Amino acid sequence: MSFDDGVQATNCDATKCKYSAVKMGYWQDDFIQYFVTGYERKTPEINRGYYARIKGVAMFMDKFLKKTGSNCQIINLGAGFDTLYWRLKNSGIRVNKYIEIDFASVTSKKCFLIKKSKILLQTISPHEGEVKIIGSDLHAPDYHIIGIDLRNLTELDKKLTQCGINFDIPTMFLTECVLVYMEPESSSMLLHWIAKKFNDIFFINYEQVNMNDNFGRIMLDNLRNRGCQLAGVDACLSPQTQMDRFVRVGWDSARSWNMINVYEYLPEEDRYRIERLEMLDELELLQQLLQHYCITIAWKGITMADVDHL
Ligand code: SAM
Repeated sequence: MSFDDGVQATNCDATKCKYSAVKMGYWQDDFIQYFVTGYERKTPEINRGYYARIKGVAMFMDKFLKKTGSNCQIINLGAGFDTLYWRLKNSGIRVNKYIEIDFASVTSKKCFLIKKSKILLQTISPHEGEVKIIGSDLHAPDYHIIGIDLRNLTELDKKLTQCGINFDIPTMFLTECVLVYMEPESSSMLLHWIAKKFNDIFFINYEQVNMNDNFGRIMLDNLRNRGCQLAGVDACLSPQTQMDRFVRVGWDSARSWNMINVYEYLPEEDRYRIERLEMLDELELLQQLLQHYCITIAWKGITMADVDHL
């Protein structure tokens, strides 16, 4: 098994964890069921961690969407089997374009699962013939899936242009546990390319942080034992290294919070509800997990320039 295979397998893991939390009632997702086979109940710490991740990302995305309305684009890099496109559409939120990118081996599986599900297809478009699946790519009026390696910027440029991307309107990028699997030069080149190419951008990055302490090293060993190389771990040493990686390559500014802070910032009534869903014996373990993940936001251009004051 190559390191790329190990990285791609992390998508199945993420999907199973999300499904476990959804089944336990942490949040609603009517679409995740079409991307999993079998149900594996995860521990309360994992379910709660995923809740913080989904809600934390949504909180920052909402700030962006509130500013732009529907005249914007969302590009989910290393999207795996994520269902955000359907969840947004189901709640009546429209964007000009929603584009997902992942390795072709992952996107072709996603395309296959979409093709099998009437609900997924109809939510993309109720009109016959508007959803076109060609190999590992999918094209529909407001949704595209592209199968490429994010380290290949020539191909990325070409494919995004084919999707009719507009480099001038507000565009949000999302990465959830993706950059950490790329060599530092590759992720830097990707972030630099985005900052150079797009004029008005907002980035939400959810991934590991504090990876140089004992617990961080245990997490790294666990992943390595499962065939996964975290080539980009150097950017995950602290909130500062997470922010620096953006500013160094041309982004205007960045901020970063570990997930303990994000969790505490979520609405109290939501936390009250989910904390009653299942017994949590090991509060300390949850805290350690939350301490080792963070959300970093970065921006360039006018739309999110006052994000500090939102
Ligand atoms: N973001 C999704 C989520 O949160 O459910 C999936 C996360 S999974 C841990 C990481 C994803 O990043 C995998 O689907 C993997 O294939 C993708 N990925 C990592 N490196 C990539 C690269 N160089 N090019 C394309 N996709 C990549």
